[in-house]
Amino acid sequence: MARLCDKYIEIAKARDPHEAEFLQTVEEVLTSLEPVLQEHPEYIESGLIERLIEPERGISFRVTWVDDAGKVQVNRGYRYQFSSVLGPYKGGLRFAPNVYPGIIKFLGFEQIFKNSLTGLPIGGGKGGSDFDPNGKSDAEVMRFCQAFMTELYRHIGPNTDVPAGDLGVGAREIGYLFGQYKRLTGLYNGTLTGKGIPYGGLLGRSEATGFGIVWYAEEMLKANGEEIKDKVFAISGFGNVSWGTAWQLQRLGAKCVTISGPDGYIYDPDGIGTDEKIAYLLELRGSGKNVCAPYAEKFPNAQFFAGKKPWGVAQDTGCKIDMFIPCAMQNDVHMEHAQQIVEGGCKFYCEGANMPTTNDALQYLMENMIAVGPAKAANAGGVACSCIEMGQNAGHTVFQHEDVYEQLHQIMKNIYANCANAGEKYYGNKNALVQGANIAGFERVAEAMMAQGLV
Ligand code: GLU
Repeated sequence: MARLCDKYIEIAKARDPHEAEFLQTVEEVLTSLEPVLQEHPEYIESGLIERLIEPERGISFRVTWVDDAGKVQVNRGYRYQFSSVLGPYKGGLRFAPNVYPGIIKFLGFEQIFKNSLTGLPIGGGKGGSDFDPNGKSDAEVMRFCQAFMTELYRHIGPNTDVPAGDLGVGAREIGYLFGQYKRLTGLYNGTLTGKGIPYGGLLGRSEATGFGIVWYAEEMLKANGEEIKDKVFAISGFGNVSWGTAWQLQRLGAKCVTISGPDGYIYDPDGIGTDEKIAYLLELRGSGKNVCAPYAEKFPNAQFFAGKKPWGVAQDTGCKIDMFIPCAMQNDVHMEHAQQIVEGGCKFYCEGANMPTTNDALQYLMENMIAVGPAKAANAGGVACSCIEMGQNAGHTVFQHEDVYEQLHQIMKNIYANCANAGEKYYGNKNALVQGANIAGFERVAEAMMAQGLV
């Protein structure tokens, strides 16, 4: 029988044939929605899917700034406001040289479902620039951020669109962006999240993504009769998502034995998430240097595998891994890596970064493992805490660390339960979390779209 979703995948391909990453996520999401589309002819009649795959608004702008040598530089800035059906557009800004509409749209589309899964009142959006903050001075980053915000400010606001960080946009960039927003508008409000603690930021926001991933992973294990304590994890990346994940694994009595960077990966049999090691990682990150080689020098029990990724760590070291969590960036795990992971005897896989797995590798992992957790569910803790930060700012108050952790933990448990229930209902399998997350995220969005009419 012909699938209903194919028509929409073809529409997206015909419209934007060169946006490979966007088409990848559209195909992945719409394929899992097939049983829901079969059940709801009214979605087809109201053009719901055509509307969902087209951003409500896409803004592209020039960013002109002057570097330290006095040379004029021109970058491209973007904000794709994908869906406001559940609340103000919400999603990060990514600054990286490979940013183009296909990347921002993939992230924005994923963000709709991720934000829906949190159960909180936030729509989906994403933005960024092809600006590369690596190797730039603080003054250059500040001038770039000020120029970027000088255009963006007219399109955002606490009840319209609330950007935050993503790759290349951390506390420093958010600080400069917020300063310029305030200068231009005269408003002190929650238009940006991920702010510093002294000026409206939320305690716990910086580690929220990693903590949430680990709580989601814990639910995956529990549902299959396993506990997280004493389990061995291998993760990739060394950024915000990775250090939060490694730290929380340690806090819950598990062990994270790998991290990776552009120079290779580290295997540390003693575990990477101790307070001392996390502090050292944060210090290295702040210096803008590579992380892995210096880490191995400082902690001599650790081994450095230059130029390699951690997916073959079981084969490289003989260490049995209970769960892999890719935390670096999109399309980090290809088919050959998925095969390495499975051949190493691992049974659980949970995505930390956004879309870190190619579609064929994801399919292979789902067929060969007990459970695979999808990014849009597992890493939703970051944006969930951003929404809590919006609430804190709107209420002119300050929330306590422990309260934030408690709320976040409950949100992650709910997300897991919703994914597992939808997997069970539509695929007869509580471990069909990839499909379950797409469906559970979509159901809320679809209901709201039907209620709000043809807009
Ligand atoms: N960039 C993060 C994400 O992918 C956080 C977005 C936010 O806090 O708005 O979800």
